[in-house]
Amino acid sequence: MKIDLSGKTALVTGGAQGIGKAIAEALAGCGCDIAVADLKADTAWTTAEQIREKHKVQTFPVSVDVSQYGSVEDCVNKVTGNFGKIDILVNNAGVTKDTLMIRMSPEDFDFVLNINLKGTFNFSRCAGAAMLKQKSGRIINIASIIGLIGNAGQANYAASKGGVIALTKTTAKEFASRNITCNAVAPGFIDTEMTRKLPENIREEMIKLIPMKKYGLPEDVAGIVLFLSSDLARYVTGQVIVVDGGMVM
Ligand code: NAD
Repeated sequence: MKIDLSGKTALVTGGAQGIGKAIAEALAGCGCDIAVADLKADTAWTTAEQIREKHKVQTFPVSVDVSQYGSVEDCVNKVTGNFGKIDILVNNAGVTKDTLMIRMSPEDFDFVLNINLKGTFNFSRCAGAAMLKQKSGRIINIASIIGLIGNAGQANYAASKGGVIALTKTTAKEFASRNITCNAVAPGFIDTEMTRKLPENIREEMIKLIPMKKYGLPEDVAGIVLFLSSDLARYVTGQVIVVDGGMVM
């Protein structure tokens, strides 16, 4: 079966680069119009232009800070004003600020929680309201295997991604009767700016822990998001799909 998303619109947070950009590309490749929502307005604009030219779909770059409810409300209004609706919401924007818990400042804990977890709540609430009226929609949250297994040095990140998984299941339960599904994708180690900033010795140690002995690519995550956005997954909700080369079984 061919995936055809023509006539659909997707909003991808953190869509300017990395995994978010690959997700936006994959959805656009199946004919979906794309809103690229990111804190980095210039990069969002460039990415939106690239996708529009390559895939001949409509794109809409929009600047947003996912952690600020007012900014998210404004973003959702702009996107629905431009496209008329949001069929697919991908909550992908995320950050890390790693250090051992004993050295982690309360501000750094809040910073990561506010973007990764509260940002996902903010968008699910705002775009979810529009989806409830439409009586259809797909919400896909990008979690992490760290939200399932924890990791020394990532108390804030692990808590935020564990929270995203719990929020995914709750959203799925609240929205299911309105034909809105909500699922999470939990990547392992994917080669992006986020993991490239790790010291080389840590990157090498990580590869030893991956049964497939290599980092994943942003496209590996995008493929699962595409599946969850498509009709193939219409009866799947509240699930967490791990994409990690076999680390967590
Ligand atoms: P990245 O740093 O390359 O991209 C993150 C994007 O989010 C950037 O474009 C950034 O500008 C945007 N962003 C950050 N803060 C924002 C905010 N407040 N408002 C709006 N946009 C904001 O990272 P990535 O590796 O592509 O990560 C994407 C998602 O995948 C994140 O949620 C991350 O936690 C998750 N993830 C990544 C990996 C990995 O190995 N790279 C593994 C598991 C999960």
